[in-house]
Amino acid sequence: MLQLKWIKQNDEKVQTAADQKGINISIKELLILDEEKRKLRKKVEDLRFKRNKLSQEIGLLKRSGEDGLIEELKNKVKDINEKLLTIEFDLKNVENQFDEMMLQVPNIISEDTPIGSSDKDNVEIRRVGEPMIENKQLKDHVALGEMHDMIDIARGVKTGGSRSYFLKGIGVLLHRAVEQLAFDILIKKGLTPLEVPVMVRTDALTNTGYFPLGKDQTYKLVDENKWLVGSSEVPLVSYYANEIVDVDLPLKFSASSKCFRSEVGSSGRDVHGLYRVHQFEKVEQVVLCKADEEISNQLLLEITSNAEEILQLLELPYRVMAVCSGDMSQKTYKQFDIETWMPSRNAYGETHSSSNLLDFQTLRSNIRYRDENGELNFCYSLNNTAIASPRILIPLLENHQQEDGSIQIPKALQKYMNGMEKIVPVK
Ligand code: AMP
Repeated sequence: MLQLKWIKQNDEKVQTAADQKGINISIKELLILDEEKRKLRKKVEDLRFKRNKLSQEIGLLKRSGEDGLIEELKNKVKDINEKLLTIEFDLKNVENQFDEMMLQVPNIISEDTPIGSSDKDNVEIRRVGEPMIENKQLKDHVALGEMHDMIDIARGVKTGGSRSYFLKGIGVLLHRAVEQLAFDILIKKGLTPLEVPVMVRTDALTNTGYFPLGKDQTYKLVDENKWLVGSSEVPLVSYYANEIVDVDLPLKFSASSKCFRSEVGSSGRDVHGLYRVHQFEKVEQVVLCKADEEISNQLLLEITSNAEEILQLLELPYRVMAVCSGDMSQKTYKQFDIETWMPSRNAYGETHSSSNLLDFQTLRSNIRYRDENGELNFCYSLNNTAIASPRILIPLLENHQQEDGSIQIPKALQKYMNGMEKIVPVK
């Protein structure tokens, strides 16, 4: 959320960001509501003031025994109370509308963000590794998963409904191995690991910018004011909500957690295999730093390169994309996606996402620090996917398959797989 004062001074910039992100909001309307709210508040205050004066006068008259005027004054108080009821009702309405709208105001967009309407307009920055050329003999991850008894989609759907799966045997080992590798890399780089709650209060989701616009993507726990997170970014940022932190050195955290997404609106899209599922695991990096654009952009490069290092250890070809305005969420200021080569799609598929959010989340979450002059400022926050599985199993299995159906395990993963170098077919 941007501060109202800032929005007023930069209304065109904010409106442009909304238009470029495809968010339907009129900043002009928001500012009119603010004006209306102020006028109504003033009316309420004036009427309350008048009522207090009249009450005092009535008290004085009673004490002095001059009862004649009292009835008239009492009628005036009654009139004011009636007016107040109507105006207070209007004020509540306007305040609610204003608060709702404020939560929909998007973050601004960095100057170097490509302008576009969907992921088709994202711009490739660099490629690393050579994509595997299409080869009809090679199997996709679902066929490989069945062949090695590692992935069972049919029983997943039988048990959990669409977009569900079982991982089994070596599939589970592989899933845990990529996560542990990512986690170990991040710990070596000085990120503090946290085990986080994945059931969170509404506030945590609103304050991290997931609500209200992402509400339909989130599973609610019946009869509780709690929700299942779609990313550990939510608890990681909320960890310091309403606190004053020390960010002389950036605070860097990581968590490995289950993520739950309803994927409303994606029906018919990416239905094959493990690409778009309702439940997955993600190792996430979150950073809090000073409110300095240069520092935060440097950190964005750093967390993106952490993710790239993991992909290089997994020996997977990938490309880094500058995400365009229309493919960004409301909260994002600047974003890179990493897409990994997926032979079965004969294309790169998104596997990672890195975002700089400036103070969008920390304003809502009220996370501040004291600067050199002792002034309180809101921190900047960033986040990045270090690894998300099972989606990463798609390129992992497909790129490392051999002609005989076996799957080569990248060297860096072998120690997490009891030294296994190759997965050989079981049937
Ligand atoms: P996001 O938090 O939306 O930026 O997503 C980060 C990463 O999580 C994506 O790049 C994917 O690797 C993974 N991911 C997101 N949504 C899903 C999903 N529905 N199923 C599987 N993986 C997902």
